Amino acid sequence: MGNLDSEASVDRARMRVQYLVRVGETELREVAIPQPSTGEVLARVNLALTCGTDLKMLERGHARLPSGPFGHEWAGRVAAVGEGVREFETGNRIVATPTAPCGDCVYCLKREESLCLHLFEDVALGAYGEYLLLPRHIVRRNAFRIPEAVSDAQAAVLEPLACVVHGAGRVDLSGDRTVVFLGDGPITLLFLQVARVGGAGRTIVIGRHPRRLEAARVLGADAVIDSRESDPRSAVEALTDGLGADTVVECVGRPEAWHEALALARRGGEVLFFGGCEKDATVSFQTERIHYDEIDVKGAFHYTPATVRRAWDLICGGAIDAHPLITHRRPLDDLTGAFDLVRRRAAVKVAIVP
Ligand SMILES: [Zn+2]
Ligand SMILES: [Zn+2]
Repeated sequence: MGNLDSEASVDRARMRVQYLVRVGETELREVAIPQPSTGEVLARVNLALTCGTDLKMLERGHARLPSGPFGHEWAGRVAAVGEGVREFETGNRIVATPTAPCGDCVYCLKREESLCLHLFEDVALGAYGEYLLLPRHIVRRNAFRIPEAVSDAQAAVLEPLACVVHGAGRVDLSGDRTVVFLGDGPITLLFLQVARVGGAGRTIVIGRHPRRLEAARVLGADAVIDSRESDPRSAVEALTDGLGADTVVECVGRPEAWHEALALARRGGEVLFFGGCEKDATVSFQTERIHYDEIDVKGAFHYTPATVRRAWDLICGGAIDAHPLITHRRPLDDLTGAFDLVRRRAAVKVAIVP
Protein backbone atom coordinates (compact mmCIF):
# COMPACT_ATOMS: atom_id res chain seq x y z
CA MET A 1 0.00 0.00 0.00
CA GLY A 2 2.68 2.46 1.11
CA ASN A 3 4.61 1.76 -2.08
CA LEU A 4 1.61 2.32 -4.30
CA ASP A 5 0.85 5.57 -2.54
CA SER A 6 4.35 6.92 -2.97
CA GLU A 7 4.38 5.85 -6.59
CA ALA A 8 1.10 7.61 -7.13
CA SER A 9 2.40 10.82 -5.57
CA VAL A 10 5.56 10.68 -7.70
CA ASP A 11 3.23 10.26 -10.66
CA ARG A 12 1.27 13.28 -9.62
CA ALA A 13 4.42 15.34 -9.36
CA ARG A 14 5.16 14.84 -13.06
CA MET A 15 3.42 16.40 -15.99
CA ARG A 16 3.46 16.18 -19.75
CA VAL A 17 4.30 19.22 -21.83
CA GLN A 18 5.11 19.74 -25.49
CA TYR A 19 8.53 21.17 -26.26
CA LEU A 20 9.56 22.89 -29.43
CA VAL A 21 12.94 21.18 -29.75
CA ARG A 22 14.04 22.93 -32.93
CA VAL A 23 12.43 24.22 -36.13
CA GLY A 24 10.16 21.49 -37.44
CA GLU A 25 10.27 19.30 -34.35
CA THR A 26 8.15 19.04 -31.20
CA GLU A 27 8.44 16.46 -28.45
CA LEU A 28 6.07 15.47 -25.66
CA ARG A 29 8.21 15.42 -22.51
CA GLU A 30 7.53 14.40 -18.96
CA VAL A 31 8.92 16.89 -16.49
CA ALA A 32 8.49 17.78 -12.82
CA ILE A 33 5.48 19.96 -12.08
CA PRO A 34 6.95 23.34 -11.10
CA GLN A 35 6.10 24.73 -7.67
CA PRO A 36 5.09 28.38 -7.39
CA SER A 37 7.50 30.67 -5.51
CA THR A 38 6.54 34.00 -3.98
CA GLY A 39 4.04 35.85 -6.16
CA GLU A 40 3.72 33.01 -8.68
CA VAL A 41 0.70 30.94 -9.68
CA LEU A 42 0.63 27.37 -10.94
CA ALA A 43 -2.26 26.81 -13.35
CA ARG A 44 -3.67 23.56 -14.60
CA VAL A 45 -4.37 23.99 -18.31
CA ASN A 46 -7.90 23.06 -19.41
CA LEU A 47 -7.47 24.01 -23.03
CA ALA A 48 -4.85 25.65 -25.23
CA LEU A 49 -5.18 27.09 -28.73
CA THR A 50 -2.92 26.86 -31.74
CA CYS A 51 -1.73 30.23 -33.00
CA GLY A 52 -0.16 31.56 -36.19
CA THR A 53 2.89 32.55 -34.14
CA ASP A 54 3.34 28.93 -33.05
CA LEU A 55 3.07 27.78 -36.65
CA LYS A 56 5.80 30.28 -37.58
CA MET A 57 7.97 29.09 -34.70
CA LEU A 58 7.50 25.52 -35.86
CA GLU A 59 8.08 26.19 -39.56
CA ARG A 60 10.82 28.78 -39.58
CA GLY A 61 11.71 29.92 -36.07
CA HIS A 62 10.69 33.22 -34.52
CA ALA A 63 12.51 36.53 -34.39
CA ARG A 64 11.70 37.03 -30.68
CA LEU A 65 10.57 33.79 -29.09
CA PRO A 66 12.89 30.93 -28.02
CA SER A 67 12.41 27.20 -28.47
CA GLY A 68 11.48 25.25 -25.34
CA PRO A 69 8.08 24.69 -23.71
CA PHE A 70 5.53 25.41 -26.42
CA GLY A 71 2.13 27.11 -26.57
CA HIS A 72 0.88 30.42 -25.17
CA GLU A 73 -2.92 30.70 -25.59
CA TRP A 74 -4.82 28.86 -22.88
CA ALA A 75 -7.35 28.88 -20.07
CA GLY A 76 -7.30 26.81 -16.90
CA ARG A 77 -7.64 26.62 -13.16
CA VAL A 78 -5.35 27.68 -10.34
CA ALA A 79 -3.62 24.56 -8.96
CA ALA A 80 -1.41 26.29 -6.38
CA VAL A 81 -0.36 29.79 -5.44
CA GLY A 82 2.93 31.08 -4.07
CA GLU A 83 3.28 33.19 -0.97
CA GLY A 84 1.87 36.69 -1.21
CA VAL A 85 -0.60 36.00 -4.02
CA ARG A 86 -3.88 37.69 -3.09
CA GLU A 87 -5.75 37.96 -6.39
CA PHE A 88 -6.07 34.21 -6.94
CA GLU A 89 -6.72 31.10 -4.92
CA THR A 90 -6.65 27.40 -5.69
CA GLY A 91 -9.63 26.37 -7.80
CA ASN A 92 -10.20 29.78 -9.45
CA ARG A 93 -10.50 29.70 -13.20
CA ILE A 94 -7.67 31.73 -14.66
CA VAL A 95 -6.27 33.08 -17.93
CA ALA A 96 -3.10 35.08 -18.58
CA THR A 97 -0.99 36.34 -21.43
CA PRO A 98 2.45 34.76 -21.94
CA THR A 99 4.36 37.99 -21.23
CA ALA A 100 4.14 41.15 -19.20
CA PRO A 101 6.33 44.24 -19.36
CA CYS A 102 8.88 45.02 -16.66
CA GLY A 103 7.35 48.38 -15.78
CA ASP A 104 10.74 50.06 -15.30
CA CYS A 105 12.59 50.31 -18.61
CA VAL A 106 12.70 53.38 -20.84
CA TYR A 107 9.80 52.15 -22.99
CA CYS A 108 7.65 51.10 -20.05
CA LEU A 109 8.15 54.56 -18.56
CA LYS A 110 6.91 56.05 -21.85
CA ARG A 111 3.87 53.72 -21.59
CA GLU A 112 4.98 51.97 -24.77
CA GLU A 113 5.07 48.60 -23.04
CA SER A 114 4.83 46.53 -26.23
CA LEU A 115 8.43 47.64 -26.77
CA CYS A 116 9.59 46.75 -23.24
CA LEU A 117 13.25 45.75 -23.25
CA HIS A 118 12.57 42.80 -20.94
CA LEU A 119 9.34 41.49 -22.48
CA PHE A 120 10.78 38.10 -23.42
CA GLU A 121 12.99 37.48 -20.41
CA ASP A 122 10.63 35.61 -18.13
CA VAL A 123 7.76 34.27 -20.20
CA ALA A 124 4.97 31.77 -19.52
CA LEU A 125 5.31 29.32 -22.39
CA GLY A 126 4.23 25.68 -22.34
CA ALA A 127 0.46 25.97 -22.62
CA TYR A 128 0.52 22.73 -24.64
CA GLY A 129 1.00 20.97 -21.35
CA GLU A 130 -0.81 19.96 -18.20
CA TYR A 131 0.45 22.76 -15.94
CA LEU A 132 1.81 26.22 -16.54
CA LEU A 133 3.76 28.36 -14.07
CA LEU A 134 2.98 32.07 -14.19
CA PRO A 135 5.79 34.36 -13.08
CA ARG A 136 5.06 37.12 -10.63
CA HIS A 137 5.05 40.05 -13.07
CA ILE A 138 2.49 38.26 -15.29
CA VAL A 139 0.29 37.39 -12.30
CA ARG A 140 0.38 41.02 -11.27
CA ARG A 141 -0.20 42.68 -14.65
CA ASN A 142 -1.80 40.33 -17.17
CA ALA A 143 -3.75 37.56 -15.38
CA PHE A 144 -7.50 37.42 -14.79
CA ARG A 145 -10.09 35.31 -13.02
CA ILE A 146 -12.54 33.93 -15.56
CA PRO A 147 -16.19 34.60 -14.69
CA GLU A 148 -18.61 31.71 -14.83
CA ALA A 149 -20.37 33.00 -17.96
CA VAL A 150 -17.15 32.98 -20.00
CA SER A 151 -16.07 29.65 -21.53
CA ASP A 152 -12.46 28.45 -21.61
CA ALA A 153 -12.45 28.87 -25.39
CA GLN A 154 -13.59 32.50 -25.14
CA ALA A 155 -11.04 33.27 -22.43
CA ALA A 156 -8.20 31.59 -24.33
CA VAL A 157 -8.28 34.13 -27.17
CA LEU A 158 -7.15 36.83 -24.73
CA GLU A 159 -3.60 37.02 -26.08
CA PRO A 160 -4.34 37.30 -29.83
CA LEU A 161 -7.24 39.63 -29.08
CA ALA A 162 -4.98 41.88 -27.00
CA CYS A 163 -2.59 42.08 -29.98
CA VAL A 164 -5.52 42.94 -32.26
CA VAL A 165 -6.82 45.62 -29.87
CA HIS A 166 -3.31 47.08 -29.78
CA GLY A 167 -3.15 47.11 -33.60
CA ALA A 168 -6.66 48.52 -33.93
CA GLY A 169 -5.66 51.41 -31.70
CA ARG A 170 -2.95 52.44 -34.14
CA VAL A 171 -5.28 53.00 -37.11
CA ASP A 172 -8.65 54.60 -37.81
CA LEU A 173 -11.35 51.94 -38.16
CA SER A 174 -14.24 54.24 -37.39
CA GLY A 175 -17.03 56.01 -39.21
CA ASP A 176 -17.55 55.61 -42.91
CA ARG A 177 -14.11 54.22 -43.68
CA THR A 178 -13.57 51.20 -45.87
CA VAL A 179 -11.20 48.79 -44.14
CA VAL A 180 -9.51 45.96 -46.02
CA PHE A 181 -8.09 43.00 -44.13
CA LEU A 182 -5.49 41.09 -46.05
CA GLY A 183 -5.53 37.45 -44.91
CA ASP A 184 -8.37 35.22 -43.71
CA GLY A 185 -6.84 33.68 -40.59
CA PRO A 186 -7.81 33.97 -36.91
CA ILE A 187 -6.29 37.46 -36.56
CA THR A 188 -8.54 38.84 -39.28
CA LEU A 189 -11.53 37.08 -37.74
CA LEU A 190 -10.80 38.80 -34.42
CA PHE A 191 -10.02 42.14 -36.09
CA LEU A 192 -13.40 42.10 -37.81
CA GLN A 193 -15.14 41.85 -34.46
CA VAL A 194 -13.04 44.61 -32.89
CA ALA A 195 -13.70 46.80 -35.94
CA ARG A 196 -17.42 46.18 -35.60
CA VAL A 197 -17.35 47.22 -31.93
CA GLY A 198 -15.44 50.34 -32.97
CA GLY A 199 -18.08 51.16 -35.58
CA ALA A 200 -16.07 50.61 -38.77
CA GLY A 201 -18.01 51.59 -41.86
CA ARG A 202 -17.30 48.83 -44.32
CA THR A 203 -15.04 45.80 -43.99
CA ILE A 204 -13.58 43.73 -46.82
CA VAL A 205 -11.61 40.53 -46.29
CA ILE A 206 -9.17 39.18 -48.87
CA GLY A 207 -8.23 35.52 -48.55
CA ARG A 208 -7.93 32.27 -50.39
CA HIS A 209 -9.69 29.71 -48.19
CA PRO A 210 -13.45 29.44 -48.79
CA ARG A 211 -14.20 28.13 -45.33
CA ARG A 212 -12.36 30.96 -43.63
CA LEU A 213 -13.91 33.54 -45.93
CA GLU A 214 -17.29 32.14 -44.99
CA ALA A 215 -16.38 32.55 -41.29
CA ALA A 216 -15.43 36.16 -42.08
CA ARG A 217 -18.87 36.73 -43.58
CA VAL A 218 -20.56 35.19 -40.54
CA LEU A 219 -18.53 37.52 -38.31
CA GLY A 220 -19.70 40.58 -40.18
CA ALA A 221 -17.43 41.19 -43.20
CA ASP A 222 -19.38 43.27 -45.74
CA ALA A 223 -17.50 41.75 -48.66
CA VAL A 224 -15.02 38.92 -49.14
CA ILE A 225 -12.62 38.54 -52.04
CA ASP A 226 -11.18 35.15 -52.94
CA SER A 227 -7.76 36.00 -54.34
CA ARG A 228 -7.65 32.73 -56.28
CA GLU A 229 -10.65 33.88 -58.28
CA SER A 230 -10.17 37.59 -58.69
CA ASP A 231 -7.34 40.08 -58.57
CA PRO A 232 -7.56 41.71 -55.11
CA ARG A 233 -6.50 45.16 -56.31
CA SER A 234 -9.12 45.39 -59.07
CA ALA A 235 -11.73 43.93 -56.73
CA VAL A 236 -10.99 46.53 -54.03
CA GLU A 237 -11.01 49.31 -56.62
CA ALA A 238 -14.36 48.10 -57.92
CA LEU A 239 -15.74 48.32 -54.39
CA THR A 240 -14.33 51.79 -53.69
CA ASP A 241 -15.10 53.84 -56.83
CA GLY A 242 -11.60 53.19 -58.07
CA LEU A 243 -9.98 54.82 -55.04
CA GLY A 244 -8.68 51.97 -52.89
CA ALA A 245 -9.18 51.35 -49.17
CA ASP A 246 -9.04 53.99 -46.45
CA THR A 247 -7.31 51.53 -44.14
CA VAL A 248 -5.52 48.30 -45.03
CA VAL A 249 -4.63 45.84 -42.29
CA GLU A 250 -2.06 43.27 -43.34
CA CYS A 251 -2.58 40.02 -41.38
CA VAL A 252 -0.47 37.54 -43.33
CA GLY A 253 3.15 38.13 -42.34
CA ARG A 254 4.83 37.55 -45.69
CA PRO A 255 6.74 40.10 -47.79
CA GLU A 256 4.40 39.58 -50.78
CA ALA A 257 1.45 40.49 -48.59
CA TRP A 258 3.20 43.57 -47.23
CA HIS A 259 3.83 44.63 -50.79
CA GLU A 260 0.25 44.04 -51.80
CA ALA A 261 -1.14 45.86 -48.74
CA LEU A 262 0.49 49.10 -49.79
CA ALA A 263 -1.01 48.78 -53.27
CA LEU A 264 -4.53 48.42 -51.88
CA ALA A 265 -4.61 51.70 -49.95
CA ARG A 266 -6.14 54.84 -51.42
CA ARG A 267 -4.17 58.09 -51.67
CA GLY A 268 -4.17 59.56 -48.19
CA GLY A 269 -4.99 56.17 -46.71
CA GLU A 270 -3.13 54.13 -44.13
CA VAL A 271 -1.61 50.67 -43.90
CA LEU A 272 -1.07 48.66 -40.73
CA PHE A 273 1.52 45.91 -41.01
CA PHE A 274 0.30 43.47 -38.40
CA GLY A 275 1.83 40.21 -39.59
CA GLY A 276 5.45 39.70 -38.60
CA CYS A 277 7.64 38.34 -41.40
CA GLU A 278 10.57 36.00 -41.23
CA LYS A 279 13.71 37.38 -39.58
CA ASP A 280 15.70 39.65 -41.93
CA ALA A 281 12.87 39.80 -44.51
CA THR A 282 12.85 42.92 -46.67
CA VAL A 283 10.19 44.52 -48.87
CA SER A 284 10.68 47.09 -51.61
CA PHE A 285 8.04 49.62 -52.56
CA GLN A 286 7.54 52.67 -54.72
CA THR A 287 8.47 55.70 -52.68
CA GLU A 288 5.81 57.77 -54.42
CA ARG A 289 3.10 55.82 -52.66
CA ILE A 290 4.35 57.16 -49.32
CA HIS A 291 5.42 60.61 -50.53
CA TYR A 292 3.07 61.79 -53.26
CA ASP A 293 0.15 59.65 -52.18
CA GLU A 294 0.65 60.46 -48.48
CA ILE A 295 -0.03 56.95 -47.27
CA ASP A 296 0.68 56.43 -43.57
CA VAL A 297 2.36 53.14 -42.80
CA LYS A 298 2.56 51.68 -39.31
CA GLY A 299 3.57 48.48 -37.61
CA ALA A 300 1.88 46.85 -34.65
CA PHE A 301 3.48 44.32 -32.38
CA HIS A 302 2.28 42.51 -29.27
CA TYR A 303 0.16 44.24 -26.61
CA THR A 304 0.29 46.40 -23.52
CA PRO A 305 -1.42 45.91 -20.14
CA ALA A 306 -4.02 48.48 -21.27
CA THR A 307 -4.88 46.56 -24.45
CA VAL A 308 -4.92 43.27 -22.54
CA ARG A 309 -7.41 44.81 -20.12
CA ARG A 310 -9.51 46.18 -23.00
CA ALA A 311 -9.45 42.76 -24.72
CA TRP A 312 -10.52 41.09 -21.49
CA ASP A 313 -13.41 43.56 -21.10
CA LEU A 314 -14.53 42.80 -24.67
CA ILE A 315 -14.47 39.06 -23.95
CA CYS A 316 -16.33 39.37 -20.63
CA GLY A 317 -18.83 41.78 -22.19
CA GLY A 318 -19.76 39.21 -24.85
CA ALA A 319 -18.52 41.35 -27.76
CA ILE A 320 -16.21 38.66 -29.13
CA ASP A 321 -17.23 35.27 -30.43
CA ALA A 322 -14.23 32.93 -30.37
CA HIS A 323 -16.14 29.80 -31.31
CA PRO A 324 -16.12 30.28 -35.11
CA LEU A 325 -12.31 30.42 -34.84
CA ILE A 326 -11.96 27.11 -33.03
CA THR A 327 -12.74 24.52 -35.64
CA HIS A 328 -11.07 21.38 -34.28
CA ARG A 329 -10.01 19.66 -31.03
CA ARG A 330 -7.00 17.40 -30.53
CA PRO A 331 -5.43 15.68 -27.51
CA LEU A 332 -2.09 16.89 -26.15
CA ASP A 333 -0.18 14.02 -27.74
CA ASP A 334 -1.38 14.91 -31.23
CA LEU A 335 0.14 18.37 -31.58
CA THR A 336 1.67 17.32 -34.89
CA GLY A 337 -1.76 16.43 -36.23
CA ALA A 338 -3.14 19.72 -34.94
CA PHE A 339 -0.49 21.77 -36.72
CA ASP A 340 -0.95 19.74 -39.89
CA LEU A 341 -4.56 20.94 -39.91
CA VAL A 342 -3.46 24.53 -39.38
CA ARG A 343 -0.70 24.33 -41.99
CA ARG A 344 -3.14 23.02 -44.60
CA ARG A 345 -5.58 25.76 -43.52
CA ALA A 346 -8.15 23.01 -42.89
CA ALA A 347 -8.49 24.44 -39.38
CA VAL A 348 -8.59 28.04 -38.20
CA LYS A 349 -7.54 27.29 -34.62
CA VAL A 350 -7.28 23.90 -32.95
CA ALA A 351 -8.07 23.43 -29.26
CA ILE A 352 -5.45 21.23 -27.59
CA VAL A 353 -6.92 19.40 -24.63
CA PRO A 354 -4.52 17.85 -22.11
ZN1 LIG B 1 -0.94 33.72 -30.10
ZN1 LIG C 1 10.00 47.44 -19.64
